[in-house]
Amino acid sequence: MADHSFDVVILGGGSGGYAAALRSAQLGKTVALVEKDKLGGTCLHRGCIPTKALLHSAEIADNTREAENFGINASFHSVDMPKVNTYRDGIVDKLFKGLTGLVNSKDITVVPGEGRLTGPKTITVNGDNYTGTNLVLATGSYSKSLPGLEISGRVITSDHALKLEFVPKSVIVLGGGVIGVEFASIWRSFGAEVTIIEGLPHLVPNEEEVISKALERAYRKRGIDFKLGVRFSSVEQTESSVTAVLEDGTRVEAELMLVAVGRGPNTVGFGYEEQGLQMDRGWVLTNDRLETNLPGVYAAGDIVPGVQLAHRGFQQGIFIAEDIAGLKPAVIDEDGIPKVTYCEPEIASVGLSEAKAKEKYGAENVSSYEYNLAGNGKSQILGTAGFIKLVRKVDGPVVGVHMIGSRVGEQIGEAQLIVNWEAYPEDVAALVHAHPTMNEAIGEAHLALAGKPLHAHA
Ligand SMILES: Cc1cc2nc3c(=O)[nH]c(=O)nc-3n(C[C@H](O)[C@H](O)[C@H](O)COP(=O)(O)OP(=O)(O)OC[C@H]3O[C@@H](n4cnc5c(N)ncnc54)[C@H](O)[C@@H]3O)c2cc1C
Repeated sequence: MADHSFDVVILGGGSGGYAAALRSAQLGKTVALVEKDKLGGTCLHRGCIPTKALLHSAEIADNTREAENFGINASFHSVDMPKVNTYRDGIVDKLFKGLTGLVNSKDITVVPGEGRLTGPKTITVNGDNYTGTNLVLATGSYSKSLPGLEISGRVITSDHALKLEFVPKSVIVLGGGVIGVEFASIWRSFGAEVTIIEGLPHLVPNEEEVISKALERAYRKRGIDFKLGVRFSSVEQTESSVTAVLEDGTRVEAELMLVAVGRGPNTVGFGYEEQGLQMDRGWVLTNDRLETNLPGVYAAGDIVPGVQLAHRGFQQGIFIAEDIAGLKPAVIDEDGIPKVTYCEPEIASVGLSEAKAKEKYGAENVSSYEYNLAGNGKSQILGTAGFIKLVRKVDGPVVGVHMIGSRVGEQIGEAQLIVNWEAYPEDVAALVHAHPTMNEAIGEAHLALAGKPLHAHA
């Protein structure tokens, strides 16, 4: 048993934790980073990166099937899942090596093992105590299930889905949120029959309703089935199949069922409650500077209530490091965090929905505009449908950008600058967008909202 002292001790080496470690080290602090599994956490090993690699393989499968439409003679034979997985693992391994090298080069002490909060400023790992002037808790999240729904056999979570060595013939996806629609998209492109079950009235219920409806149209066209506004009741499994029974009596049978009903905070068993940390149903509560009720103890990432996204975790980690170093960073505006769902077609949004903007500013003070990608040359070349919806304060800045269409995720960069820098449509309309790009559609939408449409009817 040994005692070690650092300026900053961080529990969890995922997006939130390692960002706090890197920024603290840059700012001259001594840092210990406790990680029980692998640096990079969910995002790198079981989340963002592996799923996006699968989605890229899925896009290639679709492109091959549709090659003839573009005058290319090619035929789609099958998906070699072990090879897809090798490609995916190659990406993850490379990024993991890069991250490990980066952390090591910064003189950060990585402590392998499970840590526990054992004092107001102490984390204990394998009997050794690591005391920090400041602590950062960033222990991440886990795939939730529903009461009575056991994850076993043919009922799996995204962790299992990423390890599959085969393409299932049919899948039930329980939950039409981000993770559910992304896996539905992957499996459909790989040739599976997919049925999504969502208890709320729409897929991606956290997006603008027009976006949800557009995704539903696109999924219908792709042959992805979905049952909306009906709740799951129970599950039955046999040797060869799984059946979801819904509250209206409908039965859906498939080879596998993915449970994608959200992620819960991973906060049990680490001494949080014993040390008097203020929590709500497992979430760690913080003030807007991400400090918990325990002085000098901060929390970052998925354990803090809010959108569970890697880049939010990064930003929070950086914020905490700067706050600890006395740099007084500006509080992160949660509404300004960009969100991308990487299904086909992609969805990207930032800022307020029209409904939320009306709630905040009054209906008469909000206007919106939808620019259809039918008028955008590059979208036609790619063969994608979709639109960009802008929400603005009347005579004021753009407060929300909502997009759907192939590759629109790549447009979120400009959209988030517009919203976060509180640009007026007139400001954006005056900037030149390159032709022919999909990005041009953002320029066109702002031209129209500024009252001078070019390739659009106002
Ligand atoms: C399938 C899937 C797809 C996703 N896709 C995206 C995406 O495209 N874009 C996006 O922005 N987000 C995506 N996410 C979400 C993203 O992965 C998370 O928001 C992000 O990883 C949260 O970072 P974190 O640091 O809070 O937690 P995590 O990344 O979960 O890291 C927590 C770390 O803490 C470690 N740990 C936990 N407890 C202890 C302990 N007691 N002692 C030591 N170590 C401990 C864990 O091993 C882990 O490494 C996806 C998630 C999933 C599941």
